[in-house]
Amino acid sequence: MSVQANILAEIKAYETIIIHRHQRPDPDAIGSQVGLAELLRASFPEKNIYQVGGATEGLGYLAHMQEVDDATYQGALVIVTDTANAPRISDERFAMGDKLIKIDHHPNEEPYGDLMWVQAAASSCSEIIADFWQLFPDDLHMTKEAARLLYAGIVGDTGRFLYPASSPHTLRIAADLIDFGFDYAALNRQIEQISRNVARLSGYVYENLQIDSSGAAYVTFSTEMLEDYGVSDAQTSGVVPLPGTIENVLAWAIFVQQPEGYYRVRMRSKGPAINGIAKRYDGGGHDLASGANVRNLDEAQKLYEEIQKVCIDFPANN
Ligand code: AMP
Repeated sequence: MSVQANILAEIKAYETIIIHRHQRPDPDAIGSQVGLAELLRASFPEKNIYQVGGATEGLGYLAHMQEVDDATYQGALVIVTDTANAPRISDERFAMGDKLIKIDHHPNEEPYGDLMWVQAAASSCSEIIADFWQLFPDDLHMTKEAARLLYAGIVGDTGRFLYPASSPHTLRIAADLIDFGFDYAALNRQIEQISRNVARLSGYVYENLQIDSSGAAYVTFSTEMLEDYGVSDAQTSGVVPLPGTIENVLAWAIFVQQPEGYYRVRMRSKGPAINGIAKRYDGGGHDLASGANVRNLDEAQKLYEEIQKVCIDFPANN
């Protein structure tokens, strides 16, 4: 039996299913998690299906989480979407269920769970959930709301079909989801919308980005600065893609200082793989979109030098 068929069999076998995703959620985390929850609610109305994981941090237009007590985990099936490693799972009670399933599209650096469906080539975890529906159309019933959530996840993780991870299949799936009749233009606008404060921070990024001749670039946000701009750590996601719109910029890092003093690093690339660098600095992620942590600005400089190196070595520069 395929892993997909096994997952469906487990879903059919359990009365209670609790679905988790990663901390600091993005549209794909919420889209894949609640998209799956809605798909299962429509397909198995007699089951208890829950979505958990705390605050949705500005993504309330997509969905809200539910409160579940510890006892509910007894004998339950737990499914985690879009989360490569167990420490990043939002709500550590994920381990209290009877069985655990991982569904993800990040490189499988940390296999966890009794069953795993990991497809690193997929544009998003939401695409994988939509694939699940299309594999078993007799068992799984798509709804307008589930389609809206999965489409949001795909749009979020592909930068509205901008990044190479979106394949012809991704676009076909997105079209199949749009067929369910939600207002996708309004949803696209909601995903793209930024606050005035983030708009001002965008100006800072364009003004202050350091770009070198290899195509490497970086900008740093101190905690004081973020306070001045009135932008939270989570909201910095709105400016992460911006350096990529500038000509000749190939790979970049945004160093975001945390209240404890260290810097969270958000790394992106248009060509050279950067997740190897992220892994050396307490992080990981995809080839072209990774995250890491550095203790101070000296370490930030070292990480940046590694980005410069992969840019210099990149074939387009040679
Ligand atoms: P972000 O810049 O936070 O949006 O992260 C981009 C990508 O890097 C996502 O796919 C994350 O899963 C991954 N990532 C971010 N931070 C970490 C980390 N500390 N460890 C492993 N992967 C990370």
